[in-house]
Parts: sequence; C-alpha cells; structure tokens
Amino acid sequence: MPHIPHSIIALAATLESRWENYRTQGDVDHFVEFTLSLNGLTEQLNRRHLPGLVRACQELENTALTLFGDSSMHPIPRDQANAISRQLSIILTELRRHETPATLTRRQTDDPGDRDNACHQPRLVVIVGPAHHVATQALSEQLSFFGFTPRQIRWNEMPNTDEPPLAIVFIPEQEGRAYPPNAVTGIMSLRTEFPTSYFYCLSVPTNLQSIVLLQRAGADACLPLGNKVNDVLSRILDLAQTREQEMHRVLIVEDSATAIAHVRRSLSQHGIDSRAISDPRLLLEVAAEYKPDAILMDMYMPFCNGVEVTSALRQVPEYHSLPVIYLSSESDIAQQVEALRLGGDQFLTKPTNPIILAAVVKTKIERYREMLSSTRHDSLTGLFNHATAKDQIERMLYDAMPDGRLVVAMIDIDRFKSINDRFGHPVGDQVIRSLAWLLRGRLRNTDLIGRYGGEEFIVALPDTGLERATQLLDQIREDFSTLPHAHAQGTVRATFSCGVAALPNFTTPSSIIEAADAALLHAKRSGRNCLLVATPDNERSVVCMQMEQTAHRGLQFGPFATVS
Ligand code: GH3
Ligand code: MG
Ligand code: MG
Ligand code: MG
Repeated sequence: MPHIPHSIIALAATLESRWENYRTQGDVDHFVEFTLSLNGLTEQLNRRHLPGLVRACQELENTALTLFGDSSMHPIPRDQANAISRQLSIILTELRRHETPATLTRRQTDDPGDRDNACHQPRLVVIVGPAHHVATQALSEQLSFFGFTPRQIRWNEMPNTDEPPLAIVFIPEQEGRAYPPNAVTGIMSLRTEFPTSYFYCLSVPTNLQSIVLLQRAGADACLPLGNKVNDVLSRILDLAQTREQEMHRVLIVEDSATAIAHVRRSLSQHGIDSRAISDPRLLLEVAAEYKPDAILMDMYMPFCNGVEVTSALRQVPEYHSLPVIYLSSESDIAQQVEALRLGGDQFLTKPTNPIILAAVVKTKIERYREMLSSTRHDSLTGLFNHATAKDQIERMLYDAMPDGRLVVAMIDIDRFKSINDRFGHPVGDQVIRSLAWLLRGRLRNTDLIGRYGGEEFIVALPDTGLERATQLLDQIREDFSTLPHAHAQGTVRATFSCGVAALPNFTTPSSIIEAADAALLHAKRSGRNCLLVATPDNERSVVCMQMEQTAHRGLQFGPFATVS
C-alpha cells in the first residue's frame, strides 16, 4: 500500500464527523457538507492513484447524489443511512489500516536505498487461476523479472497476506466462455476483502453482458482473449509507476466578483486550483504564465463577450484545444449552440451546482491531458517520444546547472535488425517494449526515459553521480541480456550497448547528448553488449572510459579510445 499521507487521514476524519453531524441533525445542509467532503477525499485519492479506494468512494458518492438536492428527502430513512454508514466504514477502515505503526516500520526498513525512495507502491500481484496454466506461469515469470512478487492461488481461495495486493489477475478455467457464477462470487468476495486492489479479468468474451456482470462483481479491467500476458504486464507496470498527477488548474474569466468567489470556492472544495481575471483583455498574458488546463468563461463582460474571447483565444495555436467551459445565465438554446460552434466545449448555467461544475471541469481536463500526453509519448512503449525527451533533457540540464548532477545515457539494442529478420517485426516490437518496461521498472519517477528512435533509448538521471549511474545502467544491461523474449519456436535473448555522458564534463544539451552518442558508437565498435563513458580530453574530442571490471563483458577504468 502506498504511503497514505496525514492530510488524507485528516480529510477522512472530517468526512466521518460530517456524517455523524448529519446523522444527529438530519437536514439537507449537513448532507451537502458530507457529500462535498466525500468528493474532496475522492479527488485526493485519485491524485495519489489509489484506484480501489477511489472506486469505493465513487460508489458512495453515487449513492449520496441520488439523495442530494431535494430537502424533503431528509432525514433519509434509517436503512438508507445505515447502508451509507457501512460503505463509509469500509473506506475509513481501509484508509486507517495503512497508518498502523507496524506498516510504517515495515515500509521504512523495506527501502533498499535512496534511489528507491520514490517507489512506495506495493509489489504483490495475486494471480487467481488454474495452477499449471501457461498464462499463469508466463505471467508469474515476467512479473518476477520486473520486480513484483507474484502469488498464485486457486479459484475461491483467499491469499494469505496483510498487505493488500497491488493487483489481482483472474484467469478463468475455461477460455472464451462467460465466467461461471462461482467465479463471479469468488471475485466479489475478494473485492470485499481488498477494496483498494486493481482487478483484471482475462479472457473475457467480447459480449456486453459478461463485461457488465464482471464489472458489477468488482472487475476494473476486462481483457479479451489474446496476447494477455504482455497486455496485463504492461498495465500492471503502468499502475505501479503512474506518477502523482499535477493539480488541475482553471482560469476563470468573469466580471462579477460574487460569481468569481462562488466558483473558486466550489473548485477549491474539490481540490482544483484556480485563478480569476475580471478583464478578458488580460487573458493571454495570464494564461501564458499560469498555464491553465481549462478556462471557465463568462458569457457577458464589459469589453467583449465570452464567444469573442474564445474565438480570439483559438487563434493562438497553443490554445487550440484548451477546454473552454461557458458559465452563463443564458437560457437561449440558439445562443448556446452558436457559442459551442465557435469553439467552446460546454455550457453550464449559473448558478452552477458545485459538484456538477467540478465534475465537468475534471472530465474536460482529464481528456485534455490525455490528448496532450498522446502527443508527447510514444505509442509502442508509453515512453516520452524523441522531441519531448530532448526538451526534457534541456530542462533537466538547466535545472541542474551550475553545480548539480545529471547523467545522460544512450542505449541501442544490438543487432536488432536480425531479430526482426529472423522472428518477425512483432517479436522485435516485444523486445523494444520489454526494454522500455525494464527501464521503467528500475529507474525512479524523477528519471527521464525516452524512446529516441526505433530501437534506441535515451535516459537522464538527475541528482545521481556518474559511478552510481553506470553501475545501475550496467546492471540493467546485464539483466536485459538474460531476459527471454518469446517467439513462435521458443525464446530469443537480446543485448544492448550503452554510452554515458555527465555533468560537469558536458554542459549543453547538444554536447551531452552527442557525447553519449559517441560513447555508444564506440561501445558498438568495441564488440557491443557493453557500457562506455564519455569524458572530454584536452582537444575537446570525446574519450571513452570503461568504469569498472565486471565478471561479464568488461568495464574497466582508463582511457579507452578517442572518438572525434
Ligand atoms: P546495431 O547493433 O549496430 O545497433 O545493429 P542493429 O541491427 O540494431 O541496427 P540497425 O540500425 O541496422 O537496425 C535497426 C533496425 O530496427 C532497423 C529497423 O527496421 C528496426 N526498427 C526500427 N523501429 C522499429 C520498431 O518500432 N519495431 C521493430 N520491430 N523494428 C524496428
Ligand atoms: Mg458577466
Ligand atoms: Mg541497434
Ligand atoms: Mg539504432
């Protein structure tokens, strides 16, 4: 279980006391306070990527929303209130379970070193399925390789663990058929026991009924028959490595101070940061500085109206797809349609319900961020693409100057063309993906990993000394060479070569990348499957060094060769 900060525990305590207040007072205002506080907690859990707890809170929110707004329904009947108390107590218990001293001590002693501080995610993955199933074996093997602890159990067995698993993977006894009722019951009882784990059901037939039934039982993801091991593995890696999301930022363009105060209050109650301007003529300046993820736009303002402002905003390429949500007392449908046609995304009528406002804003922002993310990431590996990786390295170098540390490495798979030629392109793709996963699994969230070209990767490690970085990368090199990649007739192994360059030897983005590239070229020339470090000599050409003697392909200190 990741570290649950005290701020979240405090939110949970507020939630609990607001619920108690409602139970004693029974009026709609207290109920609204409780719902708002619940929504705030969901938001915080979501930001920390705790999908199981988020789902439990959302279910409770859904129950609460059906009772929201109509004051004549309050106080709600006792059995409904008891049902809410039960749902709430599951959430609170689950949250507090992870604040016990035992968990805290174990977490501290578990930390294998400073590089791993960023990674608090649990590593246990439970696989529920037939014992000798090929997929079960293959998945366990791959999970272990990437640093997880797989545990296999049979259907309707309970895993014996104190720590909730990161994920539970279900493999049915019979492929391609609907999950039988006892399997569905088994999933439900695990869901009750582990509300915070992520549930994957494999080999789900592609029909709506099967999927709906499994979702109701507690499945988070239903994967069809097919290339399941790779698919599940990549999803589990994503789950373990997702970073904490940045706070949502909203810019409000509104001339009424009262409306601004109302909207900002609603947004902040839902954990959304905001800034407001009352003169739309300041929009471009403020947007450039604040970098909002969405704009809430008033319809009528003194200088110009919201539609004109939005059209003007759309002229700037950077804001082409920035979500714009109109806030207006406008009830004329024709006017609304025109506003949407001219580049708005949604219309909300004032005064807006705070929960609906926050829900619309968050949904728009999430879609927008996904869209941005797909233009920055490579689709095969999920890593940063070439252009973004270069930009990020520039930024990291700038942040580290003048006295900080930064190590940049270029990695290229050896004789990759022959893997494609012998086993086909899909096997080649799988080798590329495995290397991406291995790098993601071994490096910190603060390290940069990009796919620089076809089978070439770039890595940047901030705040890391050269020696530590080369040891780490060389260990990855060695481990990668032992990883079996499946093809139709068996397995194949691949290796990579690596070139490294660091501050303060190279101080510009282009020189550090070129030096790492030159060292990589030399690693290729000196026989591949090795790592070389670039250092500048007096004539400013690059000298490659090998850092240390290892049992496998040698890495040794001393000038190795000059690459001009
Ligand atoms: P070296 O050890 O010198 O790096 O040899 P190499 O064969 O790895 O290098 P070369 O540059 O000759 O070949 C790289 C090949 O990678 C050529 C290209 O078809 C293939 N490739 C590039 N992108 C992809 C991809 O996304 N998927 C697959 N399967 N192959 C790719
Ligand atoms: Mg106005
Ligand atoms: Mg290559
Ligand atoms: Mg290459």
